[in-house]
Amino acid sequence: MPEKPYDHNQIELKWHERWNADPSLFEAEENSAKPKFYVLEMLPYPSGSLHIGHIRNYAIGDALARYKRMRGFNVLHPMGWDAFGLPAENAAIANNRDPHDWTLSNITAMKRQHRRMGFSYDWNREITTCEPDYYRWNQWFFLKLYERGLAFRKKALVNWCPECGTVLANEQVIDGCCWRHESTRVEQRALEQWFFKITAYADELLSAIAQLEGGWPDRVLSMQRNWIGRSEGAEIDFALAGSPEKIRVFTTRVDTIFGATCVILAPAHPLTPQLLREADKPRVKAMIDASARKDPGDIEKEGLFTGHYAVNPFSGEQAPVWVGNFVLMGYGTGAIMAVPAHDQRDFEFCKTYGIPIRPVIRPVDGALANAETMQEAYPDDGITENSGEYSNLPSAEARSRMCARAERQGFGKAAVTYRIKDWGISRQRYWGTPIPMIHCPACGIVPVPEDQLPVLLPIGIEITGKGRSPLENVAGFVNVTCPKCGTAARRETDTMDTFVDSSWYFYRYCDAKNDKAPFDSKKIAYWFPIDQYIGGVEHAILHLIYSRFFTKVMRDIGLISNGEPAARLFTQGMVIKDGAKMSKSKGNVIGADQMIDKFGADTGRVFELFAAPPEKDLDWTDAGAEGAYRFLGRIYRFVTRNADRVVPGDNTHTEADRAVLRKLHQTVRKVTGDFDSRWHFNTSIAAIMELVNLLYAQESSLSADVLGEVMEKLTLILEPFAPYLAEELWEELGRTGPVFRQPWPAYDHELAQEDMADVVVQVNGKVRGRLAVSFGTPKDELERLALTDDKVRHSLTGKQVVKVIVVADKLVNVVVR
Ligand SMILES: [Zn+2]
Ligand SMILES: [Zn+2]
Repeated sequence: MPEKPYDHNQIELKWHERWNADPSLFEAEENSAKPKFYVLEMLPYPSGSLHIGHIRNYAIGDALARYKRMRGFNVLHPMGWDAFGLPAENAAIANNRDPHDWTLSNITAMKRQHRRMGFSYDWNREITTCEPDYYRWNQWFFLKLYERGLAFRKKALVNWCPECGTVLANEQVIDGCCWRHESTRVEQRALEQWFFKITAYADELLSAIAQLEGGWPDRVLSMQRNWIGRSEGAEIDFALAGSPEKIRVFTTRVDTIFGATCVILAPAHPLTPQLLREADKPRVKAMIDASARKDPGDIEKEGLFTGHYAVNPFSGEQAPVWVGNFVLMGYGTGAIMAVPAHDQRDFEFCKTYGIPIRPVIRPVDGALANAETMQEAYPDDGITENSGEYSNLPSAEARSRMCARAERQGFGKAAVTYRIKDWGISRQRYWGTPIPMIHCPACGIVPVPEDQLPVLLPIGIEITGKGRSPLENVAGFVNVTCPKCGTAARRETDTMDTFVDSSWYFYRYCDAKNDKAPFDSKKIAYWFPIDQYIGGVEHAILHLIYSRFFTKVMRDIGLISNGEPAARLFTQGMVIKDGAKMSKSKGNVIGADQMIDKFGADTGRVFELFAAPPEKDLDWTDAGAEGAYRFLGRIYRFVTRNADRVVPGDNTHTEADRAVLRKLHQTVRKVTGDFDSRWHFNTSIAAIMELVNLLYAQESSLSADVLGEVMEKLTLILEPFAPYLAEELWEELGRTGPVFRQPWPAYDHELAQEDMADVVVQVNGKVRGRLAVSFGTPKDELERLALTDDKVRHSLTGKQVVKVIVVADKLVNVVVR
């Protein structure tokens, strides 16, 4: 048969239509004897169009979903829309578009693109978080948290533009000014806000990280550990001289308290306003406004003396009370004792302001530093000096004795503090889930009864960007009667942070149409935990901590039995174009449609999986995409011109046949291994390319049955990467699909291993890597390969290689110390 040219548009549109005509094609089975596999990519924000920077994580997830289906799993691979949020509201203000219409039309456009890319989602489970059938359950969860004291109100600062007269989201504050009034400085205002008490779970969020090791990237886990930021220490009261007030400080180093030479309050500390001199108030307000805009690490340390003194409960000395911009209200108690001799930050602050430095800890084997000549703080533990009855003690012992006395005498206690703060979920915005609460003048705060959910977000209202929240002007929404006493009351007008929506969405996919409950617990028990979650590392904190928190709360309510949402997490690298991350503002975006027209969805998928290991950043180049396109075209032409050469029963094998069979089985083994372990799809695809090169070289000498086997298996292993082409080839081969319902091809160990040995590399007896090498590879070459293997090298850093033991064709053991 003559070969056909590879017309990607014709092939892809044909299958696209067939796939769309059958909505059950990628359905997960409800009752299945198969093992389950839940693969999930983070749900997107419906911005309106997909670009090729977005496609990568979907291409990875879809390859895995298709592979697992072929391996006999009941695969759940859903998709939905994180549809509430600021851009819809901004579009309303800027272009007079209704947020609901704007969002839904974006979803339609993006869903078309997802389908056109050939991603195999079970669209019957689609969720859209801005629809009442979803967000009513946000409200239901809010009520459950409220019942348990996990949702509460307190005052917190918000960004306020005096020109707009409105609260701004952090994203609307640009260099300290309003996004719409470039010269208007944003102020901080304290408003009563709703919080979720994530700190109640801080300890478990931290300790359960151990269960995620191995399944989640180390980098994400260490970012979570830092974010939670547990410190053990003590809370100690300093009495304010001449006043009944006390200043409670948190310190991890109570053993240094005799070296405390001042007490520093956060600008936002509740005592600060009453201690400040009138003239200093504007300066402190400026500190508060500035600190809300900047990363605390970038702030230049600044402080002022209040004129007041506080009494050190151990030494009885009076220490001056300062206000300092680097002390954070959200950490510890919002007040610290400064010990310049033993804390570098305090050292720098006290040097700047001429506050005395008093060393009280000496190294175990050294002398106490001289305050006059100290160049930097001595921050380590040691032996106490100049510390009254606590002198001459090791730091740890001093700490425990001091804590005991503080507790006995009622001026302090041992305490643990966390960097993580309670989660402020109130937003003074329109496009979000209404918080289901009512303010009654008689009863106070009253929850909306469960049977009155959902509290519907009014649609089609006027959004001007003025006033505290657009909802405050909607009389039909705001004015209600109190569910308790029936008097006229006001509905809460704050809406929820959109991170609430995404904290539990993956449970809803298991039972997306349930209108009696957020989900049926039995369904969760079957599908959870998520076997593979895939998304960007930018979600390492926030989303990935909030969703762990929600999971633990849901478990404690008795809704689910899993304690963690996802067994494995994968964070893909970014897509780079012209040296920068693809983004609208950089002007380096290639739209998905543009790419599909030019190259086709299959080429886009193959290129993004081929050009770099999935965890590394990837450079998009047209030349690279053209290469992927040529590769797919070569396969297509090969199969179309050879499809009718396949004659069953012809099994006399030539040398060429044996070489091709060996390469085929090695390739199947390689691709299978990559799916099951390291996901090095770039090398999987490279292996398929080598196979195709060999096919071209041996084409005329191949026997019919080898040709048949190789074309069949090549098509099957192509399916996760280039599903359109795989279906088309399958049809060319006279088979009926779909290809993803065929079993994944097996490989023959003997055929594949004929010239390849699988050499295990150990470091001190632990397996750290594997080498695929030809049998009979010399020992010194094995040693060299082992010592230069990435994974092995990683576990050798900082260690000294003592000995390398090599067993030919089997093992390299590196002994280090
Ligand atoms: Zn403004
Ligand atoms: Zn009432």
